[in-house]
Amino acid sequence: MRTRSVWPARLALAFLFLVLCGASLLLWRQLESDQQARLAERLDYQARTLARQLESNLRNEVQSLDRIAQRWNKLGRLPREQWEDEVNLALQGFPAYQSIQWIGADLQMRWLLPLKGNEAARDFRLLASHPNYPIAMQARNSGEQRFSNSFELVQGGRGFVLYTPLFIRDAAGTRTFDGFLQGVFRVEPLMDELLYSLDSHEFSVELLENRTPLYRHDQPHSQTSLTLLVPLRLLNNRNFSLQLKPSDSLLHSLSPALPQIVLGASLAISLLLVAALALALENARRAQALQVSNRLLNIEATRREAVEQRLRDSRERLQLVLDLTDSSHDSLFIFDTQSRELLHMNHATHASLGYRAEQFAQLLRDDPEQLLPGFHAWLEQVRSAQQDEQTRIFQREMRRRDGSSQAAEINTQLVQLHEREYLIAVSRDNSERLALEARLQRLSQLDGLTGLYNRRFFDQQLHAEWRRLRRIGAPLTLLMLDIDYFKAYNDALGHLAGDDILRKVGVVLQECLQREGDAACRYGGEEFAIILTHTGQQGGEHVAARIHELIANLAIAHPASPQGRLTLSIGLAEAEPLSDEHPASLVAHSDQALYRAKHGGRNRTCIWNNNGVPIAQTQNL
Ligand code: GH3
Ligand code: MG
Ligand code: MG
Repeated sequence: MRTRSVWPARLALAFLFLVLCGASLLLWRQLESDQQARLAERLDYQARTLARQLESNLRNEVQSLDRIAQRWNKLGRLPREQWEDEVNLALQGFPAYQSIQWIGADLQMRWLLPLKGNEAARDFRLLASHPNYPIAMQARNSGEQRFSNSFELVQGGRGFVLYTPLFIRDAAGTRTFDGFLQGVFRVEPLMDELLYSLDSHEFSVELLENRTPLYRHDQPHSQTSLTLLVPLRLLNNRNFSLQLKPSDSLLHSLSPALPQIVLGASLAISLLLVAALALALENARRAQALQVSNRLLNIEATRREAVEQRLRDSRERLQLVLDLTDSSHDSLFIFDTQSRELLHMNHATHASLGYRAEQFAQLLRDDPEQLLPGFHAWLEQVRSAQQDEQTRIFQREMRRRDGSSQAAEINTQLVQLHEREYLIAVSRDNSERLALEARLQRLSQLDGLTGLYNRRFFDQQLHAEWRRLRRIGAPLTLLMLDIDYFKAYNDALGHLAGDDILRKVGVVLQECLQREGDAACRYGGEEFAIILTHTGQQGGEHVAARIHELIANLAIAHPASPQGRLTLSIGLAEAEPLSDEHPASLVAHSDQALYRAKHGGRNRTCIWNNNGVPIAQTQNL
């Protein structure tokens, strides 16, 4: 997404940069061509100026000859001395002269200065065959000065001649040709002299005569590509031209580096502009990215705030729950089963045992057996109960700080969390409930009228003792007792009196029991049963006799009994639980023995004999 959004802009910037570069190059080209045009103009101007100056120089320098000619024409032929003075002055004024000479009307050399170096010309005569002859004639005929083409001088070398016609007037005033005042120049000195006064070092100069090079004055580093050809008018002569090549220094002075500067500057500006745009683009992109990340951050912050709020709420709720657990009478504690470090416990956990919180925590960590005897075994029980999905409620005893025990019903839950095992335990002091249950249990086993055990308990106890004694190989004796003529007693004295008798008999039976495990039960109606554990027939007989005795001692009057007092009959049977017999047979045996006692005359004990009936009888008083 980021690449998609950035590259078009970058490409646009690159395109813009290319466009700007192109525009810069176009501008540079335009400036360059303008400058070239201007340069050509200025070169042309400078070249023409040079040519004009050169022409003007020549004109000025040769004016001296014209002046001499004017005087000659006006005053007549000058005396030689005066001519020589004038000529010397002219020679000094313009050192380019090779010589100044006068040839007469016959075109024969007359006077010549300086003589030195021009000896060969002393006898010169301008013949019609001489290349300058036509020009000389033009000068004579026109009366004006004429500058010759170049020619081979008699002195040697090439040169020019300036023909200045001379005239004299006779007495009649007729004007007569009197020859020429000739200024002779060698090419090089003349050009050197003419150029000397000019600022000509800016050009390499070449003098052409009808396109033929005559003279050359070079400047170092001249540009042949910019050669200029300027026509030159040396007085009347138009056969000359100057070929000029500008020097590098002139070109340099005429060609400021403006286009290059403009090109460099515009390229730099383009680069800067594009760089600035790229920077702005990058900044915009960063700002956008920042905005996006800010938005995400805001969303994240809001989400976190919500989460934190929820966390706060749930923490507050948790704290509230934890605080509420403090108001509970039940103990709630959670600990790491490995380190036995407590995660949480409520107030009741330590307070109910008389400990302060830190004492409880330390004991649990260091010596848990002191808090809960059999702690380690119990923990194993908890684990296996949870594994086998059995009840996880355990009845244990906790030990108080003062050493006393406290019954505790502990509801447990093992939790695996982050590779650790935690035990959540809710413990309750249920000693009251246990006592109540025990009482209820006991009540459910007792007979309401006599306070003896009831028939249900009798059945359970008989079976339990049967199993127990079979394990240890001890005998069990059962007495079945029935009050004699009780119906008649009721009939005679009423049911309430009968109930009272039942209570008294109960007390007697209770008194006769000496061993733990022996139990006197109300079997039903006015029938009783006594279980004598670990007791044989003899012991049973002893107990039966004792009962008869105590009942007799009570001497309860019974108007309907032949004895005149209350008596009872007892059937006795002994069993060895080792045998395959069932406890029901023991009941049947003692019942049969009781039956015999009744039929034997009552107020007696009959014993079930293992060999079967007849049963031994014990006659009472
Ligand atoms: P026997 O010597 O053969 O035992 O004669 P009996 O009168 O005792 O005979 P039976 O066993 O038939 O009579 C039992 C009587 O016991 C009947 C009933 O009135 C009386 N009885 C049973 N339960 C109670 C009781 O809870 N209270 C009173 N007052 N009498 C009871
Ligand atoms: Mg009966
Ligand atoms: Mg009876």
